[in-house]
Amino acid sequence: MIRRPIAWLAVVLPALTAWPLSALALTRVTDEDLRPYFLDETVQRFDAYLWPAYAMSLVENAISLAFWALLLVFTLNDALMRRCLRLTDAIGRRVTSPRARQIGAVLTRVWGDSTWAAAILFVVAYLVIERLLFFPGSLYFNWVREHQYGYSVQPLSSFMWDWSKGLFFNAISMSALTFGLFGLARRSRRWWLLLGVPCSVLMLGAGFLDPYRTQLYRDYEPLPAGEVREAVTRTLDKAGVEYEDVMVLKMREISTRVNAFIAGQGPSRRIVLYDTFIAAMTPDEIANAVAHELGHLRDRSMVRTALSAALLTPLLWLVAWLLRAMGRRGRFGFDDDRDVRSLPAIMALLFLLGALQAPVANAHSRMMENRADDYALDLLEKPEAFRSLMIKLALINAADLHPPLWMQIQWKTHPLVIERVRRAEAFAASRGIELLPPEPRRFALPSDFQTALTAKAKAIQSNATTP
Ligand SMILES: [Zn+2]
Repeated sequence: MIRRPIAWLAVVLPALTAWPLSALALTRVTDEDLRPYFLDETVQRFDAYLWPAYAMSLVENAISLAFWALLLVFTLNDALMRRCLRLTDAIGRRVTSPRARQIGAVLTRVWGDSTWAAAILFVVAYLVIERLLFFPGSLYFNWVREHQYGYSVQPLSSFMWDWSKGLFFNAISMSALTFGLFGLARRSRRWWLLLGVPCSVLMLGAGFLDPYRTQLYRDYEPLPAGEVREAVTRTLDKAGVEYEDVMVLKMREISTRVNAFIAGQGPSRRIVLYDTFIAAMTPDEIANAVAHELGHLRDRSMVRTALSAALLTPLLWLVAWLLRAMGRRGRFGFDDDRDVRSLPAIMALLFLLGALQAPVANAHSRMMENRADDYALDLLEKPEAFRSLMIKLALINAADLHPPLWMQIQWKTHPLVIERVRRAEAFAASRGIELLPPEPRRFALPSDFQTALTAKAKAIQSNATTP
């Protein structure tokens, strides 16, 4: 038995370094590795695009941590709550409608006292302040810069509309959550148990809601008959998968990025292709992407969902325990886990716990991606199309071609494109399938690709709407 943690680390760390990177689906990439597939200028352009965004996301994390720390250390959370109480008191006195008073009385009874309105206002105010804090960065990185690099064609008004809509829906759901969760915590010290167990059950069935969630933002329509639809349905039949329909998701107005995914389960399952994806890829490449998604479907052994469902209750207990411990210190502007003023502490704890679990979750995700790739290669036996799909996807989406190891560990949910390309090549070699010699010029997209892509997507869209 090893008792001391230090001794334990002394054994584990060398063992970890001896572990082959491939077991964690990590790859060290050199310029030489990329040269057969990507032009040097492409690699440089992507680095120039990506690194400021990485820096920004690190800065955003730092700002978030500083924001939470400021609220807690200077008890600004408490100051904000006092204001909310004064405001809701004043409003409450002015409400004369008997109906509104009736509803208020019911909420007061459920909550335990009349502070429910202030609690909701506190959470909404917190959310608005936080969103405004990040608005300049978000506007610059998600709109200005995306336009500069040609990845977005979304008008500013539409971007602002999405942003406001997001804030509005968030405020509504945060209010409901606040009332429900803190209301529960005020009733029972075992709220983590009362909440954790039913939520775990819900998590296992949440997949059913998937097809409706994206519909909130964009419209689907059925994919019209043609080569692409044929290639997709042939793949589905080959895999023996039930489905309702193959759909197109209209993305061309806002983005030239491409994607394909599967939503729903069983007979209500829908295969969804971005219209931009259809415009950019050949039918064989699209078939490979769909086959990859089917690989995920077959793999969805529920292990990951079941594991997160099983971990939820202990996690909630841990958060409750930490909040009570912090509250007992009496210097962070909140009393315990029943106190809405603990919100910044909750956010900080969730952030830190998320950062701690990311390496494990990401390693698992990369492993599952590799398995889905293997499935697609096996099912269709078209490694040439698989390889060009991966390279084109990387080119269109400006994927990071050679992120450092720490970034792969902490951030990357997918294997690197070079690894996926090599997978296709290894598969071809094992089946004796001849691949064309790699040559970056052959994979490179023309410089006017973004405009061409948008125009093409528009043409497909007008075809789809004419019956
Ligand atoms: Zn995948």
